[in-house]
Amino acid sequence: MKKTEIRVRFAPSPTGFMHIGNARTALYNFLFVRNKKGKFILRVEDTDVDRSTKESTDVIFSSLHFLGIDWDEGPYFQSERLDIYHEYAHKLLLSGQAYKCYCSPEEIEDRKRKLKEKGRVFKYDRYCLKLNGEELDKVKDRPFAIRFLVPYEKIYFHDLIRGDITFQGEEIEDFVLLRGDRTPTYNFACVVDDYLLNITHVIRGEDHIPNTPKQVLVYKALGWEVPLLAHLPMILGPDHIKLSKRHGATSVEAYREMGYLPSALANYLALLGASFEPDREVYNMEELIRFFSLDRVSKKAAVFDPEKLKWMNKEHLKIMGEEEIASLLELRGFPGKEYSRAVDRTYLLKVLKLIKERLTLLDDIKKEFSYFFQAPTSYDPIGLENYKNERIRKELNLLVEVLNELEEFTAPFLEDTLRRYAESRDLKARELIHPIRLALTGKTVSPGLFEMMEILGKEETILRIRLFI
Ligand code: GLU
Repeated sequence: MKKTEIRVRFAPSPTGFMHIGNARTALYNFLFVRNKKGKFILRVEDTDVDRSTKESTDVIFSSLHFLGIDWDEGPYFQSERLDIYHEYAHKLLLSGQAYKCYCSPEEIEDRKRKLKEKGRVFKYDRYCLKLNGEELDKVKDRPFAIRFLVPYEKIYFHDLIRGDITFQGEEIEDFVLLRGDRTPTYNFACVVDDYLLNITHVIRGEDHIPNTPKQVLVYKALGWEVPLLAHLPMILGPDHIKLSKRHGATSVEAYREMGYLPSALANYLALLGASFEPDREVYNMEELIRFFSLDRVSKKAAVFDPEKLKWMNKEHLKIMGEEEIASLLELRGFPGKEYSRAVDRTYLLKVLKLIKERLTLLDDIKKEFSYFFQAPTSYDPIGLENYKNERIRKELNLLVEVLNELEEFTAPFLEDTLRRYAESRDLKARELIHPIRLALTGKTVSPGLFEMMEILGKEETILRIRLFI
């Protein structure tokens, strides 16, 4: 591996679904590294045995695939690297930069609770650091954790987005590196892996800033160089409070299920915290990669606006080819067997060409345009009121005969035929257009009538008008 190679990692903890914020982190790492022609590494931080699940890992992988984020290396699973963390924790023990702590989690909890009752915050008091003689003999067969001995000094790091950041060692507890059950904590495993995987840039959420001084200390203690750091701004809900379930759907899965396009979701996420070109918001992945740089990431929290995401989806549907939309629909099992008309892809493509500008979400095709796939089962009642007169019924009957005789069933030809017919019968064209629309769709608004008739075809069109009469 070349020393100059840019290497980033996405390091999810598989303890739930893929939150929009995590997806944005993955995306920014991806855009950054593809722009720099570096490597994207996937690492699963699954050392919390109680909370990590295989289902969650699968969901994270499928969410990444869905968004079009692929990786060059990995996935590495921290649970398979336990020996490595041991080795380094013991190194720190040997050098006196860490110490064994025999306090059980229950004892610590107990002390925390007691202090809390007094209104004070617990910080590990180095009880085990001072153990010796008899006291040590009493506990030394217990399982032990390994704690880092935090030096009381100034801890400094530079953040590519937020500038210089300092902490004081005194503010930081002697944090655990390895737990009593021999699993590593996040702050420790993360450093060991980022070092061993030659990560050059750590790009992650701002909520990790309080962890960073601990990690910087571990790097220093092991004599390693700290990678470049970039902490991304938080994502807030429309009420300017940290985005959470209260705000509705917050997972990539949920948006996928609702019928959002991967390209639109990626585009929208990319805008959450970074600016691209002036006066422009719609981009495909290639363009996002081309324009992305960490300089364009803001310090200011971003606000997640579901309405804007909807708008973005609509814009992407407009520019997307029918073939691509058809494939996405087919992946969603559309059109399923529930529709009475057997349709092939050519038919679906024709429908999409006509209606794609009217779709906001993929599934709108089911909700608003089901009449392309089955005859309407009811008619808009207001629309119906207008056509209860005999005259229209009679005219429609006659018109059906005319349609039946047609050799050609194309939109321009149909329009011409209908207009001529209306004229010959001293009717306004719309006096026929409106009821035919209702007959074909059950609705009072629809895409162009003649285009629709062409797509439905002669037989189906006539059948529906007859049914209506
Ligand atoms: N597992 C951590 C998380 O999901 C990783 C944080 C990091 O990127 O260092 O938040």
